[in-house]
Parts: sequence; structure tokens; C-alpha cells
Amino acid sequence: MRYGGNTTCVEVRIGDDIIVLDAGTGLRLLGQSLLAEFKGRPLNLTLLISHTHWDHIQGLPFFAPIYDARCRLRILGGEGARKGLVAALTGQMESTYFPVPFSKLPSNIEIEELRDFNFAVGNTLVRAQRANHPGFCVGYRLFSPDGLICFFPDTEPRPGGDDCEMIEFIRDADVLILDSQYSHAEYHRHTGWGHGCVEDSVALALRANVKKLVLFHHDPSHDDRFMDDLVRHARALVKKQRGKLRVEAAREGLAIQLGSKQAGK
Ligand SMILES: [Zn+2]
Ligand SMILES: [Zn+2]
Repeated sequence: MRYGGNTTCVEVRIGDDIIVLDAGTGLRLLGQSLLAEFKGRPLNLTLLISHTHWDHIQGLPFFAPIYDARCRLRILGGEGARKGLVAALTGQMESTYFPVPFSKLPSNIEIEELRDFNFAVGNTLVRAQRANHPGFCVGYRLFSPDGLICFFPDTEPRPGGDDCEMIEFIRDADVLILDSQYSHAEYHRHTGWGHGCVEDSVALALRANVKKLVLFHHDPSHDDRFMDDLVRHARALVKKQRGKLRVEAAREGLAIQLGSKQAGK
């Protein structure tokens, strides 16, 4: 109840640019808050999709701004299998699943397959990198003037434990949002499922000199108390290594401010 049960959706504000990371069920609440904030002013948004598993796309049909003719939405991501991103996103709005077809949406939506892993959103340079997750899945690195943000919602440590590419990609991140679904004991029953554990996340973040680690992709069977314990455990691991890494678990509505006005809430 405190951490929240919606699936992946993170909003990043850089200057006037609004970048949304993934379209899980959390996108519904974001749509409502954007409409309330912009009160009739047109919205111009970019949505970066890590991959098309359900928990990362199911919020899209419930995202109120797409029913507003003045909204412009650019969607970038990869599907990587047979169908392509357009079919993966719009297929969930076919009549078997949803009453309003994608083709009837009044807003201006562009869907682009991710081909170049280096691109720009407004003034922000973005880089993508493949994650270790079944199917096609990427993480993103956003270079904002106030800091470096890395987002890997679904990924598992690569076998061997020495993932130099990953360490280079996330090195010196101010904020790393990282799949830490399991405890160590649980992870051993789920290896190969494409998700990580808290112990490995902390070790990776420490090695890459990350400033703040946000534990992400909570297991649906973990309640608030379990999550509190995971956070405590992660912080104890950092302390043991005499690290400076700050750790918290993602929760509904959590906001992190980078730059001069750094705050934790
Ligand atoms: Zn997934
Ligand atoms: Zn997922």
C-alpha cells in the first residue's frame, strides 16, 4: 500500500521536456496529473519504451492525454521479435481487448522503432543499451544538465558477475533505477527469468560509483514490510563496504530532484 502496486512508469522533467519511461499502469495516474497541471494547454511528450512486456505497455490505452486532439506523443522503443513496436502497442487496443481502436485516437502519436541507440529528446542526449532480459529489452541513459539518469527496469546480472559493459554504461550515474525484484534467496529460484536481486544491484552500483540507487520492479508478492526490510538490508550492505551510495525503493509518487535543489522526496 505504501510502495504502490502500479507497474513501471517514470516521468523525467528536463527543462520544458517531458520524457516518460515506460507505459505500465502507472501511466494512467500520470495522465491525470499532466492534464490537471497543463489545464487545456497542449502537451508534447516523449515516451521511451524499454520493452513490450505487459507490465510496461498496459497503461497506454488509459493515458488520458491521447484522447486530446492537441496532444503530441512520440513513442520510441523496440519490440525485437516478429511484430514490430506499432503492432505490439496498438494490438492491445483491438476490439478483443479494448473498446477504442488506436486508429480512432484524436491525438498525434508517432511510433518509432529504436534503430539508433544514440539519439536526442529535445536538448537531452539519450543512449540505449540492451538489457539481459527475455526478448528485446533496453535500458536508457539520459544526460541532463543536472545529472545522469540511468533506467534499467528489467534486467538480470549477466552470468559470471563481471558485466563490464553494464558498469561502463551506468558509471557515475546520479540516479540508477534498477531491477532489484528479488532477495538473494528468491533469485536463486528464478535465475534466467530476467530480473535481478538487491545484493547484486548494490554490488553493481558500488562498482560503478553510482550516487543513488532506486530499487525497482518490486515483486507483486512483496508487501510494504518486506520492502522495508529489503531497503534496510541494501543500506547495511553499503555500510559494510563503507560506500557512499544512497539506496531507496521506488514508490508511487516518489520524486527526486537533481542539481542545486537536491531533495529526497
Ligand atoms: Zn519484462
Ligand atoms: Zn517488467
